[in-house]
Order: sequence, then structure tokens, then C-alpha cells
Amino acid sequence: METLNALPGWVKDRLHDAGKLADQLDLAVYLVGGIVRDVFLDHVRMDIDLMVVGDGIRFAKRLAHEHQGCMTPHSRFGTATVAFPDRTRLDIATARSEHYEMPATLPRVSPDTLEADLARRDFSINAMAICLNTPQRGMIIDPHNGRRDLENRTIRILHDRSFADDPTRLFRAVRFEQRLQFRMEHRTEQVYREAINAHWIDRLSARRLLEQVRQVCDEIDVWPIFKRLDELRVWQAISPTLGVFEGLESMVQSIDRYKNMLDTPQDVWRLYLLALLSPCDPDTLNTLSERLKPDRQLKEAIQDLPVLKAIAQRIKNKDIENPGDFYKAVRTISEDTILFSTIADQEDTVRQYCSIYYYEHRHIRPAINGLVLQDLGIPEGPMYSHILETILIKKINGEVNTEQEERRAALEIWKDREQQVGK
Ligand code: ATP
Repeated sequence: METLNALPGWVKDRLHDAGKLADQLDLAVYLVGGIVRDVFLDHVRMDIDLMVVGDGIRFAKRLAHEHQGCMTPHSRFGTATVAFPDRTRLDIATARSEHYEMPATLPRVSPDTLEADLARRDFSINAMAICLNTPQRGMIIDPHNGRRDLENRTIRILHDRSFADDPTRLFRAVRFEQRLQFRMEHRTEQVYREAINAHWIDRLSARRLLEQVRQVCDEIDVWPIFKRLDELRVWQAISPTLGVFEGLESMVQSIDRYKNMLDTPQDVWRLYLLALLSPCDPDTLNTLSERLKPDRQLKEAIQDLPVLKAIAQRIKNKDIENPGDFYKAVRTISEDTILFSTIADQEDTVRQYCSIYYYEHRHIRPAINGLVLQDLGIPEGPMYSHILETILIKKINGEVNTEQEERRAALEIWKDREQQVGK
């Protein structure tokens, strides 16, 4: 069937294998979710979701067995991933319905029909399926008019409780809207704004909320999503002072440029988040850390934002005048915070200080050590760390450049100290 013909060869082969096995086992299997949407939009993608009406895990096991693949089940959800020797993968789910006993909580899940499974999905464009069994292979199942909405470039929820049932959809709606350059349909946007006013976001756990923020920051083009979430008052629903501010666009653009230079930009999402949080005061940042419960590394980076801001002020006040002073001020600050400022700080001088620290100075060590100090006849004691520390700062400031110079400087520092103590 034409629809499937447009897919890359390896995908077609995998789908053909899955369809054949489903015929043999007398099970119905469908291509579902984002890949169906993307097929109609002519977008290439690597993750392929299949849905089996029946036991999805048993089907996945057989498929893996027949094609020398490896199956990882996730029994709680009736899903499994099959990884094939050529490193391609299929995600296989059991068709299910979901019942939300309370808004914004995880639903009760039970195996169900294809129609029930499509009805539990977020938007009409994500609620289509393509049959893989013969003889209906290639048949499109589209009970919610997803194709019409694709043509009209519209994001539409399937029912009015959608955002209350699962407020993660508030983020998903904007991601798809901006990524595909679609628009939320009128009623959907109305229900969206009602959901924001009803504070459904507050019901999301820290883990689910942070995951949505991560997915936003992981999109290719982050700025339009930041802006639209602001317009829809989503940031403000998370924290009243959070939102788009003057200068954020240029920060995001700087991070975009940095991201485009990387081969694997997997952690760059953190930088976009730091940009968004950068004007917040320490109390707001603490509250946000409580709300999002990020891992330790990200928490430290968030909490160091105001610390770095204070250091930037010291540079302005000429209280920090050389790289050595800067090194002493920032060495306990999170590397992510420094990287963020290296890339996106709005002050040129701060960016330069951060950059040289991040790429060079934080890796510098003195060429000499305690043994050399012993060799020079300096008596062992707390003096050693003072000498090595002073040499390090001199090295960073370019005042000593060779090991000989370091040795000479060590003796001078020692003698100076001795004289001071003697006085
Ligand atoms: P992407 O291109 O971002 O991967 P996707 O549509 O494949 O988009 P996934 O998060 O991988 O998104 O989800 C796969 C499918 O599962 C979706 O297309 C949708 O049908 C369904 N789905 C995912 N999350 C939800 C949700 N919160 N509520 C309802 N359906 C969802």
C-alpha cells in the first residue's frame, strides 16, 4: 500500500515481518502514534510504535525469537521493546484503554480494542493507525479525523477532559503545535486555558513535570515553544515570576548555536532550562528546585545561578580584575552554570571570563608538588598548600610559565611568609 511504501526500506521490512507473524498468530497488529502522523507529513523518524490487539509481550517475544532480536518487556504497561541485530528497534504495546479515577493521576489500564486504544490518545493527529495484517495491510484507521486535522494543520484534543486527565498534554500540545507549525483548534485552546486557570499543572508529580520541561528543551527549535508556553501562561502556572523576559531569545539562540556544533547534544536541554531560570531570585529558585526535584547536578547548577550573578557584579565593580581572582571566586560553582554563562551570558566580559575558566583554567595544575617543595628545603606543613595555591593563581595569571619559574616563586613565597611571621 502506498502509505507504507514511502517509508525507508528497513522500516518496511520490519513492518512486513510483524504483519506476517501477526497473521500466523491470528492477532491484529497496527502501526500507531507519532510514526503514522509523521508518515502523512513526510517526516522521517527512527522510532516505530506497533500496537497488538491481544498479548503484545507474547507477540514481541515471538518476533524477537524469529529474527534473532532481543526483547525487553515492561510488564506493568503490557509493552516491550524488540532490538534487532542490525540495531533497529520496534516498540510494541498491547492495545489498552485508560480510566482516570482522579484528574492528573496515573490511569487504571486494561487490555482493550483498537478503537479504545486510539480513544485514550492525546490529539487526533496522534490517534491514527495503519493495519499491518493481510489482506487489509496499509488500511488507515482514523476514527478521530486525524488526517483532516493534519491537512488543516490543527491540534485537537479528543474530548474536553483531556488536559485535566493528563496535564502533560498541555506541554505536548505546544510542542507539536510549534514543531509542526500547526495551531490549536479553537475549542482545544479554550479548554487549554481553562485547564491552566484550574491549576491542573499543580497536580503533576515533580518527575512528570520535569520530564515535560526536558522534552520542551529537547526540541530542535526551543524558542517558539518557550514563547507560546508564556503566552498560554504555562510558565506562570509553575511559578508566578517564571516566563519569557527580555534577552531570553538571544540566550536561546546562543545555546542553539552551541548545540549545532555538537555531535551528541544530549545534555543541552539543561542549558535552555538554566536560561529560562536565570533571572529568578534565590527563593524562587529554591521553590522551583523543590517543585521539579532535579538530580543533584542540575539542582546545584540552578542554585549557583545567583552566585554567578553576584560574581558578575564583582567583575563590573572591578573587585575581580584578573583570571586568578575569577578562578578563586568560581571554583566551587557548578560546571553547568559556568558553561551556561560561557555560552549565553549577556555580558561580554563575564562570558570571556567564564569561557577561559571553563575551557582552560579549571584544568590547570602547578607543575611542582610537595616533593619538589621538600627538595627545595621548605619545611613540611600547612605552608605547602598556601604555596601551591599561590603558584596556581600565578600560573593562571601568566606570572609563572615554566617549572623553573614555579620553583623560584615557591621559594619567594616561603621567604615572604617567614619574614611576615618573624616580624
Ligand atoms: P515524538 O515525535 O515527540 O516522539 P510521538 O507522538 O511519537 O512524538 P510519544 O511520546 O513517543 O510521542 O508517544 C507516542 C504516542 O503515544 C503518541 O503519538 C500518542 O498517540 C500517545 N501518547 C503519548 N503520550 C500521551 C499522553 N500523555 N496522552 C495520550 N496519548 C499519549
